Amino acid sequence: MFVIRVTVFVLIGLLSLAPQLSAAVPENKQQIAHAPEDGWTMPSAIVLIDAGHGGIDGGATAGNTLEKDINLAIAQKLYLLLNSQGIPAVLNRTGDYALSEENRWHVSRSRHKRDLSQRRQLTDEIETTMLVSLHVNWTKDRSKHGPLVLHQSTGESALLAFCIQDTLNRQQQTAFYPREGKPFYLLRKVDQPAVIVEMGFISHEGDRTMLTDPREQLRVASAIASGIRQYKWITR
Ligand SMILES: [Zn+2]
Repeated sequence: MFVIRVTVFVLIGLLSLAPQLSAAVPENKQQIAHAPEDGWTMPSAIVLIDAGHGGIDGGATAGNTLEKDINLAIAQKLYLLLNSQGIPAVLNRTGDYALSEENRWHVSRSRHKRDLSQRRQLTDEIETTMLVSLHVNWTKDRSKHGPLVLHQSTGESALLAFCIQDTLNRQQQTAFYPREGKPFYLLRKVDQPAVIVEMGFISHEGDRTMLTDPREQLRVASAIASGIRQYKWITR
């Protein structure tokens, strides 16, 4: 199911691109969606957008507001923005479901572990050069707010985090620094440059209002896309 979902999404994204890029859409779209097992090529893109949580796993909550819904809404906007800006992107979750449900290969009783290993596995199977994982923060202290980008120990990941932190700081008028996210499974296990973007705090009223308003979500997505563009320009 996953491959078909991604393929359809990639095609939708490609079709909406500028005319010069639409030439990249294969003439026979059926061929990709139903490619034979042995000869298929996985979709390749530059950015793999990881929409955090999903399905039974709602992530952080505040009243009726669920992190998984915010992550997905902004991930979809980021996906459309990047593709329209000539940066091919794929989304690993396009609806409200848990990625652990699609994991048939990791023998573990822990749904959480299967969820994370499925997200990591996709970074191997889909050819991309970076992973951007979208999340929303939570803390008991309701005054805490603002974006926080977590990175791996490599320079590329730190640079990507710095770029996205900077553009989110501008968008939210904050001045935080990115941090190394050592304990995070995805950051430890993924080979390509990867970052976890905590886009704000669900526990903070102002951030929550921003993160649930579609127009503000677009501004957040646009800031993340700018950060990715800057990173691409520096590392070109
Ligand atoms: Zn999360």
